[in-house]
Amino acid sequence: MTATAKSIGIIGGGYTGLTAALRLAQAGHNVTVWERGDFGGQAATIPLGDTRIEIFYHHLFQSDTHIQALATELGIGDKLMWLPSNVSYFADGRLLPLNGALDLLRLNIIPIWDRVRVGLVTLWLQLQKDWKKYEGITADEYLTKMLGRNAYEKTLGAQLKAKFGSYHDRVSMVWFWGKIWLRTKSRKNPLEQEKLGYFKGSFQVVANALVQACRDAGVTMSDHTGITSLEQSGDGWVVNTHSGAEHVDIVLSTTPSTIFQKLVSGLSTDYRTRLNALEYEGAIVTLLELDHALTDTYWMNIADPEMPFTAVIEHTNFVGPENYGGRHLVYLSKYVEQNHPYFGLTDDQIMTEYLPHLQKLNPAFSSDWIKRRWIFRERAAQPITPLHYSEKIPDLKTPLDNLWLANTTQIYPEDRGTNYAVRLGEDVARRILAEM
Ligand SMILES: Cc1cc2nc3c(=O)[nH]c(=O)nc-3n(C[C@H](O)[C@H](O)[C@H](O)COP(=O)(O)OP(=O)(O)OC[C@H]3O[C@@H](n4cnc5c(N)ncnc54)[C@H](O)[C@@H]3O)c2cc1C
Repeated sequence: MTATAKSIGIIGGGYTGLTAALRLAQAGHNVTVWERGDFGGQAATIPLGDTRIEIFYHHLFQSDTHIQALATELGIGDKLMWLPSNVSYFADGRLLPLNGALDLLRLNIIPIWDRVRVGLVTLWLQLQKDWKKYEGITADEYLTKMLGRNAYEKTLGAQLKAKFGSYHDRVSMVWFWGKIWLRTKSRKNPLEQEKLGYFKGSFQVVANALVQACRDAGVTMSDHTGITSLEQSGDGWVVNTHSGAEHVDIVLSTTPSTIFQKLVSGLSTDYRTRLNALEYEGAIVTLLELDHALTDTYWMNIADPEMPFTAVIEHTNFVGPENYGGRHLVYLSKYVEQNHPYFGLTDDQIMTEYLPHLQKLNPAFSSDWIKRRWIFRERAAQPITPLHYSEKIPDLKTPLDNLWLANTTQIYPEDRGTNYAVRLGEDVARRILAEM
């Protein structure tokens, strides 16, 4: 331990908190991580037979270099597999493959000229490196202008509405550009089938390796310990849990901003306004274990306003069913406003809404195929990027002394993800160390 070692308390044991904890402990500080649930955060897993599966579907893009470098450093680089993926689009009652330019030209839900237009706009966006020029326009406005109303409503607009609901006309074009740009960077050759990354044994392999590396570096790891409040005390902070209190020199919160604001009093109105500039959308994700395959596609974007879910992700069309005792795993994903009535529904009520729609994807589907099901809810799932967000983004250093914040609202211009959580954890640790 260095002579100037500080005590640092980290709230949240997701990828941001764990990465920051590792770097701060490696620099010689006394670090404690408090996590209210299991380590892993939004990338947490549940047991399934002799392996595990994510509560929320997860994969990596080849452009996710920060998490790949961390995996190599932690000695689990050989667990990262790159597997072919495939994408379909559900519209007009049909599942249409959408894996590249040729599939787009065959997408006969819109006239051929509109298909060419969608292709040209996508190609144009793939070539744009300067995201700043998209800060002042919403994706809705830009894409309507570029594609024409009909093509927009039937394709990218339908997807934006499915994903963002009532927020769809507020999302910045920077968010949409990021999706296209990163996907482009992720393919070495645009004509090749896309490959996505997954860890053999699930993303739990990463969380376990991070937790072990933290312990080896001397971090005190407290899972199932929720923080109830933070109080300023001298130059430091008192961190309160249900079972006690601890004094630390520095606090780093990696919780969503909505939770952070409830934990700490004394934040100025100005700073709260900054925190609230970006709203979150929630996610309700159902995981089905089936004894038959539902489809032959990994990722299905749903552009049918009558379907109650936004995307269907058949995980076992990506990582084969032989890894799960022959069972098929299907996620039904639904993004919703934080106050959406679905958050008030029971699991049974949600399933009653969903079941009739699964036959649209496979007419042979029967509810007898479902062997087990789980429904997971996350209120701070997807940040909604507003216009000119680069001017509104809250700094990692809060206005209160020795209090830091690092969460998905500070990832920009990219969209949140495990790769960027690792990058954010590294960045905030570097900033804290630089300011000591
Ligand atoms: C549906 C869905 C699909 C996704 N798919 C992908 C994907 O395919 N690929 C990808 O890379 N990323 C994906 N992500 C995003 C990725 O999982 C997250 O961006 C990343 O895990 C965020 O890490 P984090 O540590 O910043 O936040 P979190 O994982 O949210 O960690 C914050 C932690 O703080 C804890 N906490 C909150 N309040 C308290 C408290 N009071 N006391 C103590 N602890 C507290 C929480 O329990 C949580 O563990 C997906 C996310 C969702 C919701």
